[in-house]
Amino acid sequence: MNNKDKKLGMDRDITRRDFIHDVSLASLGLALPAGVAAHAATGSPVPAGANYPPVRTGMRGSHPGAFEVAHALAREGKSFPAPTDIDESYDLVVVGGGISGLAAAYYYRKRFGPDARILILENHDEFGGHARRNEFHQGGQMRLSWGGTMNLEYPLFSDEVNELLTELGVDIDTLLEGYHFRYGSGPKGKHAMFFDAETYGRDELVQDFSFRAGRETDLDASIDRFPISKESRESLKKFYARRENVFAGKSEDEVRNLLRSISYTDFLKKYGGLTDEAADLFMRVTHGYAGVGADSLSAAECIGASVPITHLLGSPHLSGSGATDAGGDVAMFPDGNASVARLLVRALIPAVAPDADASNLALARFDYSRLDEAGATVRLRLNSTVINVANHNGGTRITYVNDGRVLRVKARHSVLACWHAVIPHLCPDLPDEQKEAQKYQVKRPLLVTNVLLRDSKAIDKLDLSGAYCPGRLHGAVWVVKGVDTMGYRHEWDDPGSVPVMFWGSIAPPDSTVPIKEQHRASRALLLAMTFDDFEREVRTVLAGMLGPAGFDVQDDILAITVNRWPHGYAYGYLDLWDPAWPEGMAPHEIARQPYGNITIANADAGADAYTQVAIDEARRAVGELDAR
Ligand SMILES: Cc1cc2nc3c(=O)[nH]c(=O)nc-3n(C[C@H](O)[C@H](O)[C@H](O)COP(=O)(O)OP(=O)(O)OC[C@H]3O[C@@H](n4cnc5c(N)ncnc54)[C@H](O)[C@@H]3O)c2cc1C
Repeated sequence: MNNKDKKLGMDRDITRRDFIHDVSLASLGLALPAGVAAHAATGSPVPAGANYPPVRTGMRGSHPGAFEVAHALAREGKSFPAPTDIDESYDLVVVGGGISGLAAAYYYRKRFGPDARILILENHDEFGGHARRNEFHQGGQMRLSWGGTMNLEYPLFSDEVNELLTELGVDIDTLLEGYHFRYGSGPKGKHAMFFDAETYGRDELVQDFSFRAGRETDLDASIDRFPISKESRESLKKFYARRENVFAGKSEDEVRNLLRSISYTDFLKKYGGLTDEAADLFMRVTHGYAGVGADSLSAAECIGASVPITHLLGSPHLSGSGATDAGGDVAMFPDGNASVARLLVRALIPAVAPDADASNLALARFDYSRLDEAGATVRLRLNSTVINVANHNGGTRITYVNDGRVLRVKARHSVLACWHAVIPHLCPDLPDEQKEAQKYQVKRPLLVTNVLLRDSKAIDKLDLSGAYCPGRLHGAVWVVKGVDTMGYRHEWDDPGSVPVMFWGSIAPPDSTVPIKEQHRASRALLLAMTFDDFEREVRTVLAGMLGPAGFDVQDDILAITVNRWPHGYAYGYLDLWDPAWPEGMAPHEIARQPYGNITIANADAGADAYTQVAIDEARRAVGELDAR
């Protein structure tokens, strides 16, 4: 190990991770012998056995072991041995245990009755898909963070999504009462810009400055601290200070077309007067929002991302949300929409958490050993990658790989709630046009890395609640506190251990090539990165950002969970890259057509990366199944 890595504490983490893990298991009662009854504060039974995925640290998200079978099938065209038929027959088999697959099972029971026998097959060791719970334990306290999906974007919900969430016991008003997280802008601590030494020559933390909102006072003094050229700093000062309409005199249509045909970074240069260097600072601000850089999104799309632009379009505010980082109208669970997945699983398979409900769900311990019980009406089988789904004898046959075994089950119906890009490989007999449409939907890579810090001292001393890091892998860093609902509380004043969330996507090596090539190249980069690469990255940022305030990078990092999502956001159409299709002719509309007794769900089917879309598409897919 070189000196630089030693200074970063790269030799320290394994012990730390094991320690955390042991504490986690012990505090969960998972170290108890199987079958020992124990009760948590919520009254939920502690699972017997040590299989509790939410506490796993290290490389998570698309974790090793989850994707190899699918890659062998789809990338290498591997053929598998003939399947062994197992003696299981279902009314419905669902491929994919994300929100859409779980919702499909839920809707199926509503449509076909509670006795319907359902099997959900999921290739990860965890259910929920992108809605992933990260759970840490330290000093007798549980700390939660979001491993993927964070927001309930409730203003966008259909009536049916509202109805489903109400049935699950979710009350948006209650969630809003406990929601004090502001995406790095308080309520305690402020937003900052962090310039790192590797990219900018020196570490510089510019406190109380948000790229979205600029700063009310001392704007120029803040920008003077940016380690970029004087010319670029001056262009930024002017940019933030301006209030005008650069399209004055043009019609609404003309303005819309102009904003839809220029990238945000080009807009910043052409109309905002920024130098190339200054405009480059904004490149990663859209990574978390859309999974692509600001040079790949139109200026119109960036209005929705609340980046500074509206002050040049006639508004007194810099950004669409009134120049705040509040994150818009959203509600949140302490583990994000993993709670929606948990509520669905709890509704489908009550034995996993008999005493859990929406009031105590954040603390509830799910017993994973009950997910796949012989005799249960609904079974959820993890670590099972589906490799073929076929219509057969008036029903369907589903082949999957579990622990190296190739197995086949029968079902009257199948819902494919997996990613569209894999469906042509599962159902090679689909019409060519439909397979082409499915291949169009290349998901966008996303990255969420949670780091548990020993305490909040350095963060509090610097008065931080988040930072934008224009030069780093993860563009955004947020202090994770302040979602106090469902039995969970982590007060902003608590000086103890705290998760810090690193959020973003992965910049493509070449952002001039077609967008889907960019996604594939980013995905390859993401998959090639080792845990050490991620660890070095977050240690470098934390040392540079918090080190001057007393943070000890060697000792103060207790655990790291990398949630890599090489197949992240569903492919939504972008102004600069996709044509406008006639009604009914968009790829996702062709891709999701029913095929005999097989129908197709997933957020891909709605071409929009939202939880509510995954649910709406599940409802449609179940509704399309033939009831005869
Ligand atoms: C990092 C991140 C953050 C997000 N944040 C938000 C947010 O804040 N708010 C919001 O509304 N939405 C958000 N989204 C989008 C949202 O998470 C998704 O739209 C939604 O959860 C998708 O659910 P899904 O079931 O359609 O797909 P997925 O969650 O992808 O689930 C599909 C499942 O099928 C499995 N699968 C695939 N192929 C196979 C196979 N052959 N066999 C077995 N299983 C298979 C996959 O592994 C996966 O687990 C976010 C997404 C990401 C990646």
